[in-house]
Amino acid sequence: MLRHTKIVATLGPSTTSYEQIEAVILAGANVLRLNFSHGEADDHRQRASIIRQVAKKHNLFVAILADLQGPKIRIARFKENKVQLNNGDTFVLDSTLGYEDGDKHQVGIDYLALITDSNVADVLLLDDGRVVLEVTAVSSDKITTKVITGGPLSNNKGINRLGGGLSAKALTDKDKADIIIAAEIQADYIAVSFPRDEHDMHEARELLKQAGSHAGLVAKIERAETIADNEILDNIIRASEVVMVARGDLAVEIGDATLVGVQKHIIRRARSLNKVVITATQMMESMITSPMPTRAEVSDVANAVFDHTDAVMLSAETAAGEYPVQAVEAMARICLGAESSPSVSRSGHRLNEEFSDIDETIALAAIYTANHLEGVKAIICMTASGATPKQATRLRTALPVFALSENPATQTKVAMYRNVHTIPFQASGMAINEINQKAIDEVVKLGVAKEGDLVVITKGDYVDSQGGTNTLKIVRVGEKIQ
Ligand code: PGA
Ligand code: MN
Repeated sequence: MLRHTKIVATLGPSTTSYEQIEAVILAGANVLRLNFSHGEADDHRQRASIIRQVAKKHNLFVAILADLQGPKIRIARFKENKVQLNNGDTFVLDSTLGYEDGDKHQVGIDYLALITDSNVADVLLLDDGRVVLEVTAVSSDKITTKVITGGPLSNNKGINRLGGGLSAKALTDKDKADIIIAAEIQADYIAVSFPRDEHDMHEARELLKQAGSHAGLVAKIERAETIADNEILDNIIRASEVVMVARGDLAVEIGDATLVGVQKHIIRRARSLNKVVITATQMMESMITSPMPTRAEVSDVANAVFDHTDAVMLSAETAAGEYPVQAVEAMARICLGAESSPSVSRSGHRLNEEFSDIDETIALAAIYTANHLEGVKAIICMTASGATPKQATRLRTALPVFALSENPATQTKVAMYRNVHTIPFQASGMAINEINQKAIDEVVKLGVAKEGDLVVITKGDYVDSQGGTNTLKIVRVGEKIQ
């Protein structure tokens, strides 16, 4: 069985060496995330080079996702690195305090807009919500708070505000420099953290272009205000190739109670706008220190598969955990198990919609046909850019969709798309009828179809140009093909 749901695994200290990265890829990771919040440029360069070497060695198609840090607002540092805050304590965020001089009464901050953006009675969440502060007074250079939920607090922990609305611009100077590195390592995808609206995505796209990158843009949905307004969310999705349900920061801002409903909404919107979606964060959190997932984690991953996410993501589990390979293996196993449930593979999605685009109509018709015609075993998309198999798999199907492309960038890019599997295919210069036969030979070689089975093929008149998919063909394996 080919797994439909793709796995994004984050690399970090636990996944640095050639052997460690190779093991994670062989365990089933389809996309590897380089987290630019940690590590130096050379760490990312080195990991990227290992990923490409391993993929080549095993003839696998693995995409690289460069995830920019973005404007995460953080506290400065403590003299003793860590303090204990107790409920009811007064704690001050002070922009005039030395960077290393925090103690249990106060800590430095260097993002001054936090002060102008804060109001009395605001709730600030530190360290992903583990420490909760309520603002009691704001002056020109400090915010005084009362500790609502105490706990340990250490250096450089993140700050969010309940309800969102902190106004930092998405792309920082560090992000701009990191885009150049991401372009240099030919990342397939670049993720923008904390975009406020589509303008942040447009700005990122402009910078990508200047850096000579053809990466797909990933919008991380992690601000409360971007899901409070359907128009803002849709516009961000339209301005991106992929969206991430970034549940870590998002849940801190909106509260955990509405998170699962919001996850389903974002996935639905992304798929109906023909976009790709990743569900991320804490999916297998306990596997950072344990070789097996909890039942709740099993259920969380399966739930995302039922929601029809394209990909599920591992963060600290593979970046800093003790069991990175087991985490990927467990995730792959759970995805496959969930996909075998019949309700996952049928849909009436968009059946009542009108289409305006010929490529899209062919793509969706291919899935409709394959789902309804007895004997079809596979869908083959001859594709230059990967757009047709992506659009096709916005509809649900239990049948595998193969992207046949001669373009290396497309071969890795489709690694993110649910149920799209790469077969490198050199069609330029081949006669039309030869192309069909050779394409079918490929799926027969894989054991997906045999003599007498049906295969659905989509293609255009010109195999090496983008767009122009205008043909849907149904062929029986073993019969003469035109
Ligand atoms: P991060 O993004 O891991 O970069 O914070 C994902 C999230 O917030 O869920
Ligand atoms: Mn985040």
